[in-house]
Amino acid sequence: MKVLKFGGTSVANAQRFLRVAEIIENNSKQEQTATVLSAPAKITNHLVAMVDKTVAGLNIDSNTYEVEKIFDDLLSGLFEAQPNFAYEELKLFTRNELSLLKQLLHGIRLLGQCPDSINASIICRGEKLSIAIMKAFLTARGHSVTVINPVEALLADGDYLESTVDINESTQRIQAMNIAKNDIILMPGFTAGNEKGELVVLGRNGSDYSASVLAACLRANSCEIWTDVDGVYTCDPRLVPDARLLKTLSYQEAMELSYFGAKVLHPRTILPIAQFQIPCLIKNTNNPDAPGTLIGSNSVDLSTPVKGITNLNNMAMINVSGPGLKGMVGMSARVFSAMSYAGISVVLITQSSSEYSISFCVHHEELYRAQEALSDEFYLELKDG
Ligand code: ADP
Ligand code: ASP
Ligand code: MG
Repeated sequence: MKVLKFGGTSVANAQRFLRVAEIIENNSKQEQTATVLSAPAKITNHLVAMVDKTVAGLNIDSNTYEVEKIFDDLLSGLFEAQPNFAYEELKLFTRNELSLLKQLLHGIRLLGQCPDSINASIICRGEKLSIAIMKAFLTARGHSVTVINPVEALLADGDYLESTVDINESTQRIQAMNIAKNDIILMPGFTAGNEKGELVVLGRNGSDYSASVLAACLRANSCEIWTDVDGVYTCDPRLVPDARLLKTLSYQEAMELSYFGAKVLHPRTILPIAQFQIPCLIKNTNNPDAPGTLIGSNSVDLSTPVKGITNLNNMAMINVSGPGLKGMVGMSARVFSAMSYAGISVVLITQSSSEYSISFCVHHEELYRAQEALSDEFYLELKDG
Protein backbone atom coordinates (compact mmCIF):
# COMPACT_ATOMS: atom_id res chain seq x y z
CA MET A 1 0.00 0.00 0.00
CA LYS A 2 1.24 3.44 -0.92
CA VAL A 3 -0.25 6.73 0.27
CA LEU A 4 -0.10 9.73 -2.07
CA LYS A 5 -1.00 13.30 -1.12
CA PHE A 6 -1.50 16.20 -3.53
CA GLY A 7 -1.54 19.78 -2.28
CA GLY A 8 -3.67 22.69 -3.48
CA THR A 9 -1.47 23.80 -6.37
CA SER A 10 -1.40 20.19 -7.67
CA VAL A 11 -5.20 20.23 -8.11
CA ALA A 12 -5.56 23.94 -8.98
CA ASN A 13 -7.01 23.42 -12.49
CA ALA A 14 -8.14 20.74 -14.95
CA GLN A 15 -4.72 20.23 -16.54
CA ARG A 16 -3.06 19.63 -13.17
CA PHE A 17 -5.97 17.50 -11.97
CA LEU A 18 -5.47 15.29 -15.01
CA ARG A 19 -1.76 14.95 -14.24
CA VAL A 20 -2.62 13.92 -10.67
CA ALA A 21 -5.08 11.31 -11.97
CA GLU A 22 -2.31 9.90 -14.20
CA ILE A 23 0.14 9.73 -11.28
CA ILE A 24 -2.50 7.88 -9.23
CA GLU A 25 -3.17 5.48 -12.13
CA ASN A 26 0.54 4.78 -12.73
CA ASN A 27 1.18 4.08 -9.07
CA SER A 28 -1.91 1.89 -8.80
CA LYS A 29 -0.49 -0.41 -11.48
CA GLN A 30 2.35 -1.29 -9.06
CA GLU A 31 0.44 -1.56 -5.76
CA GLN A 32 -2.78 -0.40 -4.10
CA THR A 33 -2.82 3.34 -3.48
CA ALA A 34 -4.70 5.63 -1.11
CA THR A 35 -4.74 9.28 -2.15
CA VAL A 36 -5.37 12.34 0.00
CA LEU A 37 -6.32 15.56 -1.77
CA SER A 38 -6.29 19.18 -0.67
CA ALA A 39 -8.77 21.78 -1.85
CA PRO A 40 -7.81 23.41 -5.17
CA ALA A 41 -5.36 26.29 -4.56
CA LYS A 42 -6.90 29.45 -3.07
CA ILE A 43 -10.21 27.76 -2.17
CA THR A 44 -9.51 27.39 1.56
CA ASN A 45 -8.26 30.99 1.73
CA HIS A 46 -11.49 32.15 0.10
CA LEU A 47 -13.61 30.07 2.50
CA VAL A 48 -11.73 31.43 5.52
CA ALA A 49 -12.13 34.97 4.17
CA MET A 50 -15.86 34.39 3.58
CA VAL A 51 -16.36 33.40 7.23
CA ASP A 52 -14.27 36.30 8.58
CA LYS A 53 -15.89 38.88 6.30
CA THR A 54 -19.40 37.63 7.07
CA VAL A 55 -18.76 37.90 10.82
CA ALA A 56 -17.48 41.45 10.23
CA GLY A 57 -20.59 42.29 8.15
CA LEU A 58 -18.55 42.74 4.93
CA ASN A 59 -19.48 41.81 1.38
CA ILE A 60 -18.26 38.41 0.10
CA ASP A 61 -19.40 38.59 -3.55
CA SER A 62 -15.86 38.60 -4.95
CA ASN A 63 -14.92 35.48 -2.94
CA THR A 64 -18.12 33.68 -3.95
CA TYR A 65 -17.48 34.54 -7.60
CA GLU A 66 -13.87 33.25 -7.44
CA VAL A 67 -14.86 29.97 -5.73
CA GLU A 68 -17.61 29.29 -8.28
CA LYS A 69 -15.29 30.13 -11.16
CA ILE A 70 -12.48 27.83 -9.95
CA PHE A 71 -14.89 24.88 -9.77
CA ASP A 72 -16.71 25.75 -13.02
CA ASP A 73 -13.41 25.92 -14.92
CA LEU A 74 -12.16 22.73 -13.30
CA LEU A 75 -15.30 20.77 -14.19
CA SER A 76 -15.56 22.01 -17.77
CA GLY A 77 -11.83 21.34 -18.35
CA LEU A 78 -12.18 17.78 -17.07
CA PHE A 79 -15.28 17.22 -19.22
CA GLU A 80 -13.28 18.29 -22.26
CA ALA A 81 -10.45 15.88 -21.37
CA GLN A 82 -12.79 12.98 -20.53
CA PRO A 83 -16.13 13.12 -22.39
CA ASN A 84 -17.78 10.41 -20.23
CA PHE A 85 -16.97 12.38 -17.04
CA ALA A 86 -20.22 12.85 -15.03
CA TYR A 87 -20.14 16.58 -15.67
CA GLU A 88 -23.81 17.45 -15.04
CA GLU A 89 -23.92 15.37 -11.85
CA LEU A 90 -20.78 17.00 -10.48
CA LYS A 91 -21.98 20.45 -11.44
CA LEU A 92 -25.16 19.82 -9.46
CA PHE A 93 -23.20 18.42 -6.51
CA THR A 94 -20.89 21.45 -6.47
CA ARG A 95 -23.81 23.84 -6.76
CA ASN A 96 -25.57 22.12 -3.84
CA GLU A 97 -22.45 22.31 -1.69
CA LEU A 98 -22.07 26.00 -2.46
CA SER A 99 -25.71 26.74 -1.75
CA LEU A 100 -25.42 24.92 1.62
CA LEU A 101 -22.39 27.13 2.24
CA LYS A 102 -24.44 30.23 1.46
CA GLN A 103 -27.12 29.12 3.95
CA LEU A 104 -24.52 28.67 6.68
CA LEU A 105 -23.04 32.08 5.90
CA HIS A 106 -26.51 33.60 6.06
CA GLY A 107 -26.91 32.15 9.57
CA ILE A 108 -23.50 33.53 10.56
CA ARG A 109 -24.48 36.98 9.26
CA LEU A 110 -27.63 36.93 11.41
CA LEU A 111 -25.74 35.71 14.47
CA GLY A 112 -22.82 38.10 13.97
CA GLN A 113 -20.48 35.29 14.98
CA CYS A 114 -19.34 31.88 13.80
CA PRO A 115 -19.04 28.93 16.21
CA ASP A 116 -15.83 26.92 15.62
CA SER A 117 -17.83 23.79 14.71
CA ILE A 118 -19.58 25.63 11.86
CA ASN A 119 -16.32 27.29 10.83
CA ALA A 120 -14.65 23.86 10.53
CA SER A 121 -17.51 22.50 8.42
CA ILE A 122 -17.18 25.47 6.04
CA ILE A 123 -13.42 25.65 5.53
CA CYS A 124 -13.02 21.93 4.74
CA ARG A 125 -15.53 22.01 1.88
CA GLY A 126 -12.87 22.41 -0.82
CA GLU A 127 -11.31 19.06 0.11
CA LYS A 128 -14.71 17.35 -0.06
CA LEU A 129 -15.26 18.73 -3.57
CA SER A 130 -11.75 17.76 -4.77
CA ILE A 131 -12.46 14.16 -3.77
CA ALA A 132 -15.94 14.04 -5.31
CA ILE A 133 -14.49 15.35 -8.58
CA MET A 134 -11.50 12.97 -8.55
CA LYS A 135 -13.79 10.03 -7.79
CA ALA A 136 -15.99 10.89 -10.78
CA PHE A 137 -12.95 11.40 -13.02
CA LEU A 138 -11.27 8.10 -12.09
CA THR A 139 -14.60 6.27 -12.37
CA ALA A 140 -15.05 7.69 -15.88
CA ARG A 141 -11.62 6.26 -16.70
CA GLY A 142 -12.79 2.79 -15.67
CA HIS A 143 -11.43 2.52 -12.12
CA SER A 144 -13.24 1.25 -9.06
CA VAL A 145 -12.91 3.81 -6.26
CA THR A 146 -13.57 3.74 -2.49
CA VAL A 147 -13.79 7.03 -0.64
CA ILE A 148 -12.88 7.08 3.06
CA ASN A 149 -15.06 9.58 4.94
CA PRO A 150 -12.56 11.07 7.43
CA VAL A 151 -15.34 12.28 9.75
CA GLU A 152 -16.28 8.64 10.36
CA ALA A 153 -12.87 7.01 9.95
CA LEU A 154 -10.43 9.35 11.70
CA LEU A 155 -11.17 9.87 15.40
CA ALA A 156 -9.67 13.17 16.51
CA ASP A 157 -9.33 15.03 19.76
CA GLY A 158 -8.81 18.74 20.40
CA ASP A 159 -10.31 21.96 19.09
CA TYR A 160 -12.72 22.00 16.15
CA LEU A 161 -10.09 23.92 14.17
CA GLU A 162 -6.89 22.13 15.28
CA SER A 163 -7.41 18.48 16.20
CA THR A 164 -5.05 15.53 16.62
CA VAL A 165 -5.88 12.05 15.32
CA ASP A 166 -5.99 8.89 17.47
CA ILE A 167 -4.07 6.45 15.26
CA ASN A 168 -5.05 3.22 17.09
CA GLU A 169 -8.80 3.82 17.00
CA SER A 170 -8.66 5.15 13.43
CA THR A 171 -6.66 2.10 12.30
CA GLN A 172 -9.38 -0.20 13.61
CA ARG A 173 -12.14 1.83 11.97
CA ILE A 174 -10.39 1.75 8.59
CA GLN A 175 -9.64 -1.98 8.88
CA ALA A 176 -13.32 -2.59 9.64
CA MET A 177 -14.20 -1.01 6.28
CA ASN A 178 -12.70 -4.06 4.49
CA ILE A 179 -11.84 -2.05 1.41
CA ALA A 180 -11.56 -4.16 -1.76
CA LYS A 181 -7.92 -4.85 -2.71
CA ASN A 182 -8.32 -3.54 -6.25
CA ASP A 183 -9.99 -0.26 -5.40
CA ILE A 184 -8.26 3.07 -5.66
CA ILE A 185 -8.77 4.68 -2.24
CA LEU A 186 -9.43 8.42 -1.90
CA MET A 187 -9.79 10.57 1.21
CA PRO A 188 -10.30 14.32 1.64
CA GLY A 189 -7.45 15.92 3.59
CA PHE A 190 -7.64 18.41 6.45
CA THR A 191 -10.72 16.73 7.98
CA ALA A 192 -11.55 14.29 10.81
CA GLY A 193 -14.34 13.61 13.32
CA ASN A 194 -14.45 14.00 17.11
CA GLU A 195 -15.88 11.58 19.67
CA LYS A 196 -19.36 12.99 19.13
CA GLY A 197 -19.04 12.31 15.40
CA GLU A 198 -18.83 16.04 14.59
CA LEU A 199 -16.59 17.29 11.83
CA VAL A 200 -13.28 18.86 12.92
CA VAL A 201 -10.26 20.12 10.97
CA LEU A 202 -6.56 19.49 11.55
CA GLY A 203 -5.23 23.06 11.32
CA ARG A 204 -4.28 25.07 8.22
CA ASN A 205 -2.06 23.09 5.86
CA GLY A 206 -3.34 19.93 7.58
CA SER A 207 -3.69 17.67 4.54
CA ASP A 208 -0.05 16.58 4.89
CA TYR A 209 -0.95 15.37 8.37
CA SER A 210 -4.06 13.58 6.99
CA ALA A 211 -1.79 11.70 4.58
CA SER A 212 0.69 10.62 7.23
CA VAL A 213 -2.15 9.55 9.52
CA LEU A 214 -3.67 7.49 6.70
CA ALA A 215 -0.25 5.96 5.92
CA ALA A 216 0.10 4.96 9.58
CA CYS A 217 -3.46 3.56 9.77
CA LEU A 218 -2.93 1.50 6.61
CA ARG A 219 0.64 0.56 7.65
CA ALA A 220 1.64 1.72 4.17
CA ASN A 221 5.03 0.91 2.65
CA SER A 222 5.53 4.54 1.76
CA CYS A 223 3.93 7.97 1.84
CA GLU A 224 4.48 10.46 -0.98
CA ILE A 225 3.68 14.16 -0.51
CA TRP A 226 3.32 15.78 -3.95
CA THR A 227 3.67 19.55 -3.93
CA ASP A 228 4.88 22.49 -6.05
CA VAL A 229 8.64 22.33 -5.32
CA ASP A 230 11.20 19.58 -5.99
CA GLY A 231 11.44 18.58 -2.32
CA VAL A 232 12.66 20.02 0.96
CA TYR A 233 15.26 22.74 0.51
CA THR A 234 17.81 24.23 2.89
CA CYS A 235 15.36 27.12 3.22
CA ASP A 236 12.18 28.31 1.53
CA PRO A 237 13.12 28.42 -2.20
CA ARG A 238 10.55 31.17 -2.77
CA LEU A 239 12.34 33.44 -0.32
CA VAL A 240 15.95 32.36 -0.89
CA PRO A 241 16.82 31.86 -4.59
CA ASP A 242 20.03 29.86 -3.94
CA ALA A 243 18.40 27.43 -1.50
CA ARG A 244 19.68 23.88 -2.11
CA LEU A 245 17.58 20.76 -2.44
CA LEU A 246 18.09 18.16 0.29
CA LYS A 247 18.26 14.55 -0.96
CA THR A 248 17.53 13.04 2.44
CA LEU A 249 16.36 14.06 5.89
CA SER A 250 15.87 12.11 9.11
CA TYR A 251 12.44 12.12 10.74
CA GLN A 252 13.89 14.24 13.55
CA GLU A 253 15.28 16.84 11.12
CA ALA A 254 12.06 17.00 9.12
CA MET A 255 10.07 17.42 12.32
CA GLU A 256 12.28 20.28 13.48
CA LEU A 257 12.17 22.04 10.11
CA SER A 258 8.38 21.84 9.96
CA TYR A 259 7.87 22.88 13.60
CA PHE A 260 10.07 25.89 12.97
CA GLY A 261 8.22 27.11 9.91
CA ALA A 262 9.09 25.09 6.78
CA LYS A 263 5.61 25.24 5.25
CA VAL A 264 6.35 22.36 2.88
CA LEU A 265 5.19 20.02 5.70
CA HIS A 266 2.51 20.54 8.32
CA PRO A 267 4.28 20.25 11.72
CA ARG A 268 2.41 17.15 12.89
CA THR A 269 3.05 15.20 9.67
CA ILE A 270 6.18 13.35 10.76
CA LEU A 271 5.11 11.75 14.05
CA PRO A 272 2.67 9.12 12.69
CA ILE A 273 5.00 7.98 9.90
CA ALA A 274 8.07 7.96 12.18
CA GLN A 275 6.14 5.80 14.65
CA PHE A 276 5.76 3.07 12.01
CA GLN A 277 9.06 3.82 10.22
CA ILE A 278 7.24 4.62 6.98
CA PRO A 279 9.53 6.36 4.45
CA CYS A 280 8.17 9.66 3.18
CA LEU A 281 9.08 11.12 -0.21
CA ILE A 282 8.45 14.78 -1.07
CA LYS A 283 7.86 15.14 -4.84
CA ASN A 284 7.00 17.87 -7.34
CA THR A 285 3.77 17.35 -9.33
CA ASN A 286 5.09 19.71 -12.02
CA ASN A 287 8.40 17.83 -12.27
CA PRO A 288 7.61 14.18 -11.49
CA ASP A 289 10.97 12.88 -12.74
CA ALA A 290 12.93 14.80 -10.11
CA PRO A 291 13.99 12.39 -7.35
CA GLY A 292 12.53 14.49 -4.48
CA THR A 293 13.55 14.40 -0.82
CA LEU A 294 13.44 11.15 1.13
CA ILE A 295 12.57 11.41 4.83
CA GLY A 296 13.30 8.25 6.82
CA SER A 297 15.12 6.68 9.73
CA ASN A 298 18.23 5.89 7.66
CA SER A 299 18.47 9.34 6.19
CA VAL A 300 21.09 10.74 8.55
CA ASP A 301 23.77 12.50 6.54
CA LEU A 302 26.67 13.34 8.87
CA SER A 303 28.45 15.45 6.25
CA THR A 304 25.81 18.17 6.55
CA PRO A 305 24.98 18.42 10.23
CA VAL A 306 23.01 21.64 9.69
CA LYS A 307 20.27 20.89 7.19
CA GLY A 308 18.40 24.14 6.91
CA ILE A 309 17.20 27.52 8.07
CA THR A 310 13.56 28.27 8.68
CA ASN A 311 11.61 31.31 9.75
CA LEU A 312 8.44 31.86 11.73
CA ASN A 313 6.42 34.99 11.07
CA ASN A 314 4.44 37.03 13.60
CA MET A 315 6.43 36.12 16.68
CA ALA A 316 6.80 38.35 19.75
CA MET A 317 9.74 38.19 22.14
CA ILE A 318 9.14 39.05 25.79
CA ASN A 319 12.08 40.00 27.95
CA VAL A 320 11.70 39.60 31.72
CA SER A 321 14.67 41.30 33.35
CA GLY A 322 15.80 43.17 36.43
CA PRO A 323 18.23 42.94 39.35
CA GLY A 324 15.58 41.05 41.35
CA LEU A 325 16.06 38.03 39.12
CA LYS A 326 19.70 37.21 39.92
CA GLY A 327 20.17 34.23 42.18
CA MET A 328 16.46 33.97 42.94
CA VAL A 329 15.29 30.37 42.85
CA GLY A 330 12.04 29.64 41.01
CA MET A 331 11.76 32.80 38.88
CA SER A 332 11.65 30.98 35.56
CA ALA A 333 9.18 28.49 37.00
CA ARG A 334 6.89 31.41 37.85
CA VAL A 335 7.28 33.00 34.42
CA PHE A 336 6.42 29.80 32.56
CA SER A 337 3.72 28.67 34.98
CA ALA A 338 2.00 31.98 34.30
CA MET A 339 2.13 31.18 30.56
CA SER A 340 0.91 27.65 31.19
CA TYR A 341 -2.06 28.79 33.30
CA ALA A 342 -2.97 31.27 30.57
CA GLY A 343 -2.80 28.46 27.97
CA ILE A 344 -0.10 30.27 25.99
CA SER A 345 2.36 28.20 23.99
CA VAL A 346 6.02 29.23 24.40
CA VAL A 347 7.97 28.77 21.18
CA LEU A 348 11.54 29.57 22.26
CA ILE A 349 13.31 30.28 25.56
CA THR A 350 16.71 31.86 26.37
CA GLN A 351 18.23 32.90 29.65
CA SER A 352 21.39 34.98 29.91
CA SER A 353 24.20 33.40 31.91
CA SER A 354 24.20 36.47 34.16
CA GLU A 355 20.66 35.43 35.16
CA TYR A 356 19.51 39.03 34.80
CA SER A 357 17.04 38.26 32.05
CA ILE A 358 14.79 35.55 30.66
CA SER A 359 13.54 35.99 27.09
CA PHE A 360 10.93 33.92 25.37
CA CYS A 361 8.84 33.97 22.21
CA VAL A 362 5.09 33.61 21.84
CA HIS A 363 2.81 33.97 18.83
CA HIS A 364 2.11 37.65 18.27
CA GLU A 365 -1.62 37.27 18.82
CA GLU A 366 -0.89 35.96 22.36
CA LEU A 367 1.34 38.92 23.28
CA TYR A 368 -1.27 40.96 25.11
CA ARG A 369 -2.49 38.00 27.16
CA ALA A 370 1.11 37.02 27.97
CA GLN A 371 1.85 40.52 29.26
CA GLU A 372 -1.29 40.46 31.37
CA ALA A 373 -0.41 37.06 32.83
CA LEU A 374 3.09 38.28 33.75
CA SER A 375 1.77 41.50 35.27
CA ASP A 376 -0.58 39.46 37.47
CA GLU A 377 2.11 36.96 38.49
CA PHE A 378 4.70 39.65 39.35
CA TYR A 379 2.22 42.16 40.72
CA LEU A 380 4.09 42.59 44.04
CA GLU A 381 7.58 42.78 42.46
CA LEU A 382 6.36 45.36 39.94
CA LYS A 383 4.66 47.35 42.71
CA ASP A 384 7.97 47.43 44.59
CA GLY A 385 9.73 48.66 41.47
P1 ADP B 1 0.85 22.23 -0.83
O1 ADP B 1 -0.28 23.08 -1.32
O2 ADP B 1 1.34 21.26 -1.84
O3 ADP B 1 0.58 21.61 0.51
P2 ADP B 1 2.41 24.30 0.45
O4 ADP B 1 2.28 25.66 -0.16
O5 ADP B 1 1.67 24.02 1.71
O6 ADP B 1 2.08 23.23 -0.68
O7 ADP B 1 3.96 23.96 0.71
C1 ADP B 1 4.88 24.10 -0.33
C2 ADP B 1 5.63 25.42 -0.16
O8 ADP B 1 6.42 25.38 1.03
C3 ADP B 1 6.63 25.71 -1.24
O9 ADP B 1 6.02 26.31 -2.36
C4 ADP B 1 7.63 26.62 -0.53
O10 ADP B 1 7.39 27.98 -0.83
C5 ADP B 1 7.34 26.43 0.95
N1 ADP B 1 8.53 26.09 1.74
C6 ADP B 1 8.87 26.68 2.91
N2 ADP B 1 10.02 26.18 3.38
C7 ADP B 1 10.44 25.25 2.50
C8 ADP B 1 11.57 24.38 2.44
N3 ADP B 1 12.52 24.38 3.37
N4 ADP B 1 11.68 23.56 1.37
C9 ADP B 1 10.71 23.52 0.41
N5 ADP B 1 9.63 24.33 0.41
C10 ADP B 1 9.49 25.18 1.43
N1 ASP C 1 -6.75 23.24 2.27
C1 ASP C 1 -6.21 23.31 3.61
C2 ASP C 1 -5.42 24.59 3.77
O1 ASP C 1 -5.25 25.33 2.80
C3 ASP C 1 -5.41 22.12 3.99
C4 ASP C 1 -4.22 21.82 3.10
O2 ASP C 1 -4.23 22.15 1.92
O3 ASP C 1 -3.27 21.21 3.58
O4 ASP C 1 -5.00 24.90 4.86
MG1 MG D 1 0.62 22.37 2.39
